[in-house]
Amino acid sequence: MNRIYLDNAATTQVDKEVLKAMEPYFIDVFGNPSSLHSFGQEASKAVEFAREKIARFLNCSAQEIIFTSGATEANNLAILGTVFANGYPGKKIHIITSAIEHPAVLETCEYLEKNGVEVDYIKPDNSGVINLNDIKNKIKNNTKLISIMYANNEIGSIQPIEEIGELVRKVNAKRQEDPSPAKAGSGQAGKIIFHTDATQATNYLNMDVEKLGVDLLSFSGHKIYGPKGIGVLFVKKGIKIRKIQHGGHHENNLRPGTLNTPGIVGLAKAVELIDIRNNINIENLCNYTLELIQERIKNIKLNGSLENRLPNNLNINIIGVEGEALLLGLDMEGIAVSTGSACSSNSLKASHVLSAIGVSAEESHGALRITLGKNNTRAEIEYFVEKLEKIVKKFRDMAPS
Ligand code: PMP
Repeated sequence: MNRIYLDNAATTQVDKEVLKAMEPYFIDVFGNPSSLHSFGQEASKAVEFAREKIARFLNCSAQEIIFTSGATEANNLAILGTVFANGYPGKKIHIITSAIEHPAVLETCEYLEKNGVEVDYIKPDNSGVINLNDIKNKIKNNTKLISIMYANNEIGSIQPIEEIGELVRKVNAKRQEDPSPAKAGSGQAGKIIFHTDATQATNYLNMDVEKLGVDLLSFSGHKIYGPKGIGVLFVKKGIKIRKIQHGGHHENNLRPGTLNTPGIVGLAKAVELIDIRNNINIENLCNYTLELIQERIKNIKLNGSLENRLPNNLNINIIGVEGEALLLGLDMEGIAVSTGSACSSNSLKASHVLSAIGVSAEESHGALRITLGKNNTRAEIEYFVEKLEKIVKKFRDMAPS
């Protein structure tokens, strides 16, 4: 059996068609898309063609697409760009986010919090889903930004983005009807801007920004069988954000830097290849994985619930065995899984996501994240569970009763 990759939430293998689409843009069409000569204009044409494709995927216009180096940068631009465009640091700004965001959102908010911005971190229920009323109850006159991820990277829980979008729409309509508090200087900061980090959702969920009611949306190439180092921030027309890096005037003057032509072309191809009709196959394979694990290994617990969950995600606790030990044991058999998110797997800190859904620190050290991809097969799953069963047995036999 070849090596088996079950860590698709960390990154995905570039699709061969994506690589093929990118190839001409390294050597043949290598010009700087900002250059006026034909070398540059050829590259620029490819970038604009890609932008149109991605805009169709998101149901927005091409001018609303800002290319970044990935979702980390897109999230930073969304959050910092919003507060800077809205009077920070002079004005008191309030942000609502969730306790289970990716560090790219969480740490950006924590940085702002240390520097005078007020932030509320909403906790999800035990299944990992944020309650709409909890957001509603936290909205204040000076709430300027709500940033809630579309789907979680550790437990795959899906958030009610459309409903939050509707709530924000209603609050904004009311603010427009009665703008008096703003005039009276009570600190109301006009419209609430709604951002979602859709990095884990892109392959599986509806990405129509109109339907979702979002003003800002981030995603990344390398989670969708595209290249690393490229991402997108959708910025709805009329939404004011300010650039956070200084240099050229690229990307509507929001993101300076020479455009990554091959990356952009590859990202557009990856987006074109997304077909949510494939969800059912991946969901069936994921259910099969869980069934096999439950059948063969006693004393396991699923973190989060099976409802409102990405079809490719399983996060389980194997009671009494360290997740890290399992990861290393499986790796020796050529099988890749994760203990939490890739970004925190080097740290011994308990997962903030598992802790937010009520899993104890001790239990969360036994967590294993298995995230399937479009290339995984039933044979691979059977081999994986067979090896997992053996490794768990070995560790349990060694442990004092
Ligand atoms: N947000 C989420 C939900 C993610 O899973 C990731 C990747 N782990 C990121 C943001 C960061 O994306 P990138 O690697 O493109 O910076």
